[in-house]
Amino acid sequence: CKVLVTGANGFIAIWVVRTLLERGYLVRGAVRSASKGKYLTEYFGKRGFGTDKLEIVIVEDITKPGAFDEAVKGVDAIEHTASPVVPEVKDPQGAFLYQKDALTIDLEHAADLIKPAVQGTVGILQSALDHGSGIRRIVITSSGAAILVRPTVPTLFSEEDWNTFSVEDVEKNGVNAHPESGYRASKTLAERAAWEFVEKNKSKISWDLVVINPPVVLGPGIQEITGGPANLNASIKWLYEVVVNSSSQSEKFLYSSSVWVDVRDMALAHILALQKEAAGGERIVVSAGPFIWQDLVDIANQLTPYPLPSHPPPKGIPGLDKTYLVHFKPNKQEKILGMPVSSLRTMEETVRDALTEFAARGWPE
Ligand code: NDP
Repeated sequence: CKVLVTGANGFIAIWVVRTLLERGYLVRGAVRSASKGKYLTEYFGKRGFGTDKLEIVIVEDITKPGAFDEAVKGVDAIEHTASPVVPEVKDPQGAFLYQKDALTIDLEHAADLIKPAVQGTVGILQSALDHGSGIRRIVITSSGAAILVRPTVPTLFSEEDWNTFSVEDVEKNGVNAHPESGYRASKTLAERAAWEFVEKNKSKISWDLVVINPPVVLGPGIQEITGGPANLNASIKWLYEVVVNSSSQSEKFLYSSSVWVDVRDMALAHILALQKEAAGGERIVVSAGPFIWQDLVDIANQLTPYPLPSHPPPKGIPGLDKTYLVHFKPNKQEKILGMPVSSLRTMEETVRDALTEFAARGWPE
């Protein structure tokens, strides 16, 4: 069984590729350049997975019509993860920025966010329809961002919920939209376009669709990172900022509340989404539970031995009042994927392994 994984060099996708290979699948990884493919070939080659198990295909521009036509030929399933992850675009007043100078993109680039998210998604579905006669299932990595915007009071969400606020915000307010709205809108619009595509083409397609909506994904990043922690993917950059880089901790960020899952569990969810018959036609959130960022700091302070011995963790704000605002019903992850919360990695394991990975990379310098 051969699976096409798009954005195969990304933080989540490389774990999807690894989990697929370890479970005996053949993988075709789509990346934007040969150098990104080289890292994957070398990384997996060292682990005993040669080019007979993992082949690389270059798709330079996923917004071009027919971009995936060649890539989908001869595969049995697709895991589409490629999408720009720019959680905040700078608003002109700078009022909502959590991270100092972390994201300097301006709202003009919101179009560069939404376009590849939507056109990449519709494009791969169209290529699958036109050239993927052997395809039986397509899994798309959407996001909790397509479900919600952060509430101000504790709220229980489920897969029934859709984040329409961010789309309307970008449409109505343009450059004055909330800085998180560009990314969130990109995920809502891409996911909505995928379901619409399936509905419109249901008499013609040989496959069904599963959408996974990850919350904040944490854990060890095994992807190529050139130029140091500043170039980490967004969610692990947050972890690094909070747990390692004490100078950049703001009270507002430590308080901010969301839902999380370990990247290895997220990868497993992507594989189970291929395997479980009942997953067809479902959007599924996989979450280990609610958290605030101070929780990661507290857990780091309890780790013995501490993985970065010469760099003790910051304290954040010990004793911070913890109000968890975002909650999910774990119904589908349990019933459809067989992943109850109790089976998932703990935050302690996730933080320890992420820090151990930083240490292996020689960070902090
Ligand atoms: P990464 O930034 O590590 O990976 C993103 C991947 O998408 C990379 O392979 C990247 O390629 C590719 N990509 C980005 N922009 C484009 C573009 N314009 N055209 C083609 N490819 C592009 O992020 P994650 O692994 O964290 O995210 C993967 C998916 O998971 C995304 O769809 C994201 O929205 C979703 N997600 C992530 C969460 C998280 O907490 N990490 C939470 C919820 C959802 P390149 O390296 O060439 O830029």
